[in-house]
Amino acid sequence: MSGPVLEIIDLEAGYNRKPVLQGVSLTVMPGEIVAIIGPNGAGKSTVLKSVIGMLAARKGDILYHGARINGNKPSDNVPLGIAYSPQGNMVFDDLTVTENLAIGGYTLTDKGLATSRMAEVFALFPELAARQKYDAGDLSGGEKQMLALGRALMLRPKLLLLDEPSLGLAPAALKKSFTTIRGIRDSYQTAMLIVEQNVDAVFAIADRVYVMALGKVIAEDVPANLPRERLKGLFLGAMK
Ligand code: ADP
Repeated sequence: MSGPVLEIIDLEAGYNRKPVLQGVSLTVMPGEIVAIIGPNGAGKSTVLKSVIGMLAARKGDILYHGARINGNKPSDNVPLGIAYSPQGNMVFDDLTVTENLAIGGYTLTDKGLATSRMAEVFALFPELAARQKYDAGDLSGGEKQMLALGRALMLRPKLLLLDEPSLGLAPAALKKSFTTIRGIRDSYQTAMLIVEQNVDAVFAIADRVYVMALGKVIAEDVPANLPRERLKGLFLGAMK
């Protein structure tokens, strides 16, 4: 049995003088889909930004396959197999679908590999295959989300960090997107850490869930053991 893909131990991080994470610990095992839920401002996105290296850890450790990656920049972490899809599915609106995917695979010096990875993304998302020459700005919200995910998959990551993949998606697109996310895990055994506000959507695909509030983990369990309706009411109702 191999160890965790990601292990966060007592992480403290924040912005300028503002402390946000106050001793967060969590693990993601190989092939595991782990969700972080909690109210707005709990620090969920800050966890992902710390792991990818956009934000420096002030205390604690971030271990990737057992090695410390504290202090790494995103450009150090991406080649190690960590991919990050930020909130809002930031794609380059003025570039085509194909060009956006090519950017995702920019470190692939083997052009044949880049082409075959792109073909895999198109097989996963036929909607994108049909719109290869479209500007990303002309895609629907659901298609942009597919493109952001496809771009993250170009390097066949071992750990995928997804910040609110449900954001802005209509129910049908959301269901499809989450089914695809689980399909990616099933096909490639990609470990995933997913930040979500949509409890029902993420509970349907997560193996384990961490609940965060005020910069701390306040609960951790398999979805079936967590009080879903109470969480929805307590945390997510509060921000509406
Ligand atoms: P969540 O993802 O749970 O909604 P975040 O991690 O985005 O929470 O934010 C946690 C806290 O950090 C919030 O109080 C937020 O205002 C603050 N914060 C987030 N990003 C920044 C930033 N770039 N600069 C300063 N404060 C920030």
